[in-house]
Amino acid sequence: MGTEGRLRAVLLDLDGTLVDHGAALARAFAEVGRELDVDFTGLDRAGVRPALPGRHAMDHFRAAYARAIRPYADARPVVDQLLEAGLRVGILADGGDEDLGQASAALAALGVAADQVTLLTPSDLPAARPDPRAYLAACAAVGASPQETVVVGDDHALDVRGALDAGLAAVWVNRRDRRDSEDAPTLPTLDGLPGLLATL
Ligand SMILES: [Mg+2]
Repeated sequence: MGTEGRLRAVLLDLDGTLVDHGAALARAFAEVGRELDVDFTGLDRAGVRPALPGRHAMDHFRAAYARAIRPYADARPVVDQLLEAGLRVGILADGGDEDLGQASAALAALGVAADQVTLLTPSDLPAARPDPRAYLAACAAVGASPQETVVVGDDHALDVRGALDAGLAAVWVNRRDRRDSEDAPTLPTLDGLPGLLATL
């Protein structure tokens, strides 16, 4: 897989692809909301900080999220297979600088050593995904050209369209429904990824 073809690097989206961000956010909302009497109804990640009263509350939320984050069962075995195949692995995290703790916690939950992969947060990149500049910088960070790199992610607009627009290959991991992408190979889980990459 990979090492004899043109593929040298895989950029894996973190939230929703490797780890169950939505479930962790819901558990952290429930726990912190109960303890601090904060109503998180209808909020996403961007709404967390404005809803929390002060630094201590944000630290509390981060800790709750770190306890709640879980990898998908297929994630760690696939990351290991990619590394064993000699591919360079970058992991694309969402959120701002203040979320680095969340990305690190997710990586720790995944059980992948930080020195085996390149963790890329938005502050490491010159633009936010799906801007092509984000993907070109991510390629540079893992030491591969866009033509040698594939992006794997659950968000079609961010991960698939953004990668294709920057000249990378893309794989859509759609865990939610049976819909296929018209512009990229689609997988229902990560299990089939190593086999699929061998055909790229
Ligand atoms: Mg995602």
